[in-house]
This record gives sequence, C-alpha cells and structure tokens, in this order.
Amino acid sequence: MNVIRSFFRLKRFLAEHKRYYLLGIGALILTNTAQLVIPKMMGNLTNLIASGEVTRGDLVRFVVYFISLSVIIAFFRYFWRINIMGTARKMEYTLRNMLFEHLQSLSPEFFNYHKTGDLMAHATNDIHAVRMALGPGIVSSVDALFLTSVILFMMARTISLQLTIVALLPLPVMLGVSFGFGRVIHRRFRRVQEAFSSLTERAQENFAGIRVIKGFARENSEEERFREVNEFNVAKNMDLVRVHALFHPLVGYLGALSFIIVLGYGGILVLDGAITIGDFVAFNSYLGMLTWPVMAIGWVMNMIQRGKASMDRLNDIFNQRSDIDDPGEKGALPELKGKIEFRDLTFTYPTSSQPVLKGINAEIAPGQIVGILGRTGSGKTTLLNLLLRLYNVKPGTLKLDGVDIDQVSVGVLRDSIGYVPQDSFLFSATIKENIDFASTGSDMGRITEYAKIAQVFDNIVEFPKQFDTVVGERGVTLSGGQKQRIAIARALIKEPQILIMDDSLSAVDTETEEAILQNLRRIFPGKTVIIVSHRISTLQAADQILVLEEGQISQRGTHDELVQVDGLYKEMYQKQLLEEQIESVS
Ligand code: ADP
Repeated sequence: MNVIRSFFRLKRFLAEHKRYYLLGIGALILTNTAQLVIPKMMGNLTNLIASGEVTRGDLVRFVVYFISLSVIIAFFRYFWRINIMGTARKMEYTLRNMLFEHLQSLSPEFFNYHKTGDLMAHATNDIHAVRMALGPGIVSSVDALFLTSVILFMMARTISLQLTIVALLPLPVMLGVSFGFGRVIHRRFRRVQEAFSSLTERAQENFAGIRVIKGFARENSEEERFREVNEFNVAKNMDLVRVHALFHPLVGYLGALSFIIVLGYGGILVLDGAITIGDFVAFNSYLGMLTWPVMAIGWVMNMIQRGKASMDRLNDIFNQRSDIDDPGEKGALPELKGKIEFRDLTFTYPTSSQPVLKGINAEIAPGQIVGILGRTGSGKTTLLNLLLRLYNVKPGTLKLDGVDIDQVSVGVLRDSIGYVPQDSFLFSATIKENIDFASTGSDMGRITEYAKIAQVFDNIVEFPKQFDTVVGERGVTLSGGQKQRIAIARALIKEPQILIMDDSLSAVDTETEEAILQNLRRIFPGKTVIIVSHRISTLQAADQILVLEEGQISQRGTHDELVQVDGLYKEMYQKQLLEEQIESVS
C-alpha cells in the first residue's frame, strides 16, 4: 500500500497511459505463451524422431511451426517493448518536467539550503529509478508471476509432478540468494552513485573555481584531492563488482544443480517408462526457462523498493511549497505606478533569529531616484529582496501604491520591476538573447537602442559576432563592467515602472556611470529608480538618499544635505574625494 501511496503523484499520467501498459502487458503475456509452446513442441518432435516413424513432411511441418512461432514472438516482443518501455520513457519525461516546473515555483530560499548537486541527482538518479520501476520493473513482475506459475504448471501437470518437486529442491535456496544478494547489490549500488556524485561535484567545483586554484597555485593539491575521490569511487565500484562476481556463478551453480537432479532422476523415470524421452527434453527446456523468472522475483522486489525510495525523495521536494502567497488574478492592482512605502518595517530571515532590518520608515514617490548607501552586510540587498517579494513581510509594513505588497499579484509586481542583481548573472546564450531575456519581442533596433542607453553598445560591436556573441558560462568572456551593463540593458528593455539596481555600477568607470545615469533620467521620467551603491558618485544626483547601518536608516536626505552633517555619508564622501585626488595626482 505504501508503494501505491508513493506513486500516487503519477496518478494522472498512469490513468492517461493505462491503455499502453495494458496493451504492453497483453503482448508480453502472448510473447511468454508463445515461448512456452516451444519446449512442448521440442518434446513432441523428439518423441516422433525416437519412434522412428518421422517423415520428411513432419520435419518440414515442425520447421514451419518453429519459424511461425519465432515470428510471432518477435512481433509481440517489439509491441510490448514499444508500449511498456516507451510509456516508461514518457513517464520519465513528464516527471522531469513536473519536477523542473515545481522547482521553478519554489522561493530562492529553498535553493540556499539545497545543493545544486543534490537537486541534479534527484533529476537524474531518482527519476531513473522511478522509470526502472515503471518500465523494466513491470516487465519483470509479469515475467516473474506469469512465467514461473505457467512453467511450474506445465512441468507438474503435463510432465511429472514428482520430477518437478525433486528438480525444484534448490529453488528456495535460489530465491533466498536472489533476495539476499539483491539487497546487498542495492545497497552497494547506492554507494556507487553517491561516490560518483561526489566525484562529479569535486570536478565541477574545481572547474568553476579554476581561476582561484591557479591564482593560489593549488593544482597539485587539487589533483591529490581529486585522486582521493576517484579512488573512493573505484573502491565502491569494486565492492559492487565483487558481489556481482559472486552472485552470478552462484545462481548459475544452483540452476545447474537442478539440471543434474533432472538428468539423474528424470533419466530413471525415462528408463522406467514413467515419462517419454520427449517429456524429458521438454522438461529440461522448461527448467532452463525458469532461471530468469526466479531471478526476476528478487530483482523486481529490489527495483520496486528502489523506485519507491526515489519517489519518496521526489515527493519530499514536491511537497515543499513556496511560502509566498500569490493573489494572482485577484491581485489588488492591475499595474504599479511606482510609489513605495516602508512603515516601521522589521525583517528577520526565516532561518535566523536576529532581525536584519529594524524599524525602516521611508516613502518613495513615483518618479523619484532613491539612493541607498551602506556598508556590506547592512541589509541593502535584503531590502531589495523584500521589494521583489522573495520573502514575506508583516502586513502594513511594505506598501506599493498604497496597497500591502502581498495583495499585489506576483506577476504584476515582477513585471513592473526591472532588477539588476549584484552579480549580473548572464545566461549561456547570445548577448541579444540575454538583453531580451524578458521576451519583450523586441527587434534589433530596440535591442540596439537599449544597449546604447546602458552604454555597452560600443563594446558589443567590437566583438566579431556582435549581438550574436555567445556569452560563456556565467559570462566569463566579458569583463565585469560589460556584464553589469548588459544586465542593465536587460532590465531597462522591460521599461519597468520601478528600476532596482543592486550595486550594479561598481565595475563601471565614473564617466560611463554618469552617462548611464543621465540616460536613465532622460528615458525614465516618472519612473521610480532605486540605486544601491558604495560610491558617492552614483548616488549624488538622487532625489533622496537613505543611509543604512546595521539594518537601520541612520541618515536620510539629499547629497547636499548629507555632506553637511557628520555621519557615514560624509565620512565616505571625504574618503572617496581623497582617493580621487590621489588618483588625479598620480
Ligand atoms: P548588504 O546587501 O547590505 O551587503 P545583505 O542584505 O546582503 O547586506 O545582508 C544583511 C545581513 O543578512 C547579513 O548579515 C547577511 O549575512 C544576512 N543574510 C543575507 N541573506 C540571508 C539569508 N538568505 N538568510 C539568512 N541571513 C541572510
């Protein structure tokens, strides 16, 4: 019952594809039945030959029978493979899509606490195990049930009950071996998978951090560390090889034991005239056919257990919900105008006990440019995360156009916001595709226009393929400043009502920065802009500057006001002024 509960999530798929499974199982049973006729026919032919009355016509007849049977077997085998294995592949496809879609719906917080490697393992190993249970697992169950019972019936009823009982004496041992080894093989197989997953993770991390490794000249020690995980991996594989090496000969030996018994006892029965020579031949063929379904019993139990364990792990992910409640269509606002109010906002991360933001009060009018200044860790990114509604806030503490943020549909909210993240993450795609990531359906003219606004056009046209240049993994072929400006173009092309830039001009020189900010004012009248920065130059033109210190707003005002009073703003202003002077002198 537990197994059924685990696979319940696939109910819809299974209901829709029931027909294919049933057809496949039907074809499988027909294949098996046709195979079971062969030993009987061999027996009849042997008897005919032994009687000395066989004619050439009889031989031709038997040849035609055997050929027809093989054609039937081949046809039905094709048919069940397509239906059962094919449906299992479709199930794999559906389950993988379901998982991906679900993971996309979870909050970023989920990804902070789940390693990418683990999620990849779920998407590969676990889904593979589920497919094995619902493809080969079903085939083996049918084989185990149908073949075992019919073969035993044929042996006992049509040949000899006595011989069947004696021949099957090693069977319980074989079943025990099959179950026992199945369990050990399963356990060791898991360890192999775990070892392999650490191996790939090690390699992946190593390649991602290759610059750091080279910078610190750590190649040798990294090679050593890799050798260790690689050795561990081969050791785990050897454990598996060893148990397989023991299992297969043991099963073969037990099977051979049955044959020896049949040879002795069956021979006596033939000599006594209790069974015919044809029965003897047929019996041996049946016995040979029995090895697989008996092994399949142990195999299938393991495969279903494994599939269930994997499905349970997937269910754990499927049961995770994003804690962001989206009012969706029922959202209070069809679009945002850009007014933002923080009312005594205090925020603590779900996993932490200390508040990161404390008593934030601020009002931002539509069309204002607001600068946020603060040291690392003061809570600037957190404040932006709340605006993007990546976390929940207490009712009444964060309002957009006068409405609580949780009353606004997440779609409307995020469509209205252009967000330039701190790390300017770009996808492995062309520059053009990266700029139009929001799929605004912009033509080249518009993409070019926004690249110009973000001051990155001149760089792009210098690349041999210009806008069709593929940005490597995480945009490694671009400089930090180029990435930042492409990320800005990507946010601007959405023409959002609210633009949020999280320290996204840090790698851009002051002149270019000035040009971008001027462009913003020109193309963005009436739109709200929030700029987080360490640099005074970025902030000084803002209508309002908020200074964040340890989660609290310690100062607020315009640049001219803030440079008049003692505080973090003035301190940083003077420091940066000094730096500029030193730079210009040198
Ligand atoms: P800033 O952007 O000003 O550098 P952040 O908003 O990123 O600061 O971080 C403020 C504080 O919140 C830091 O102490 C940081 O460790 C903590 N913090 C950031 N993200 C999380 C998170 N997902 N869970 C728990 N604490 C976090």
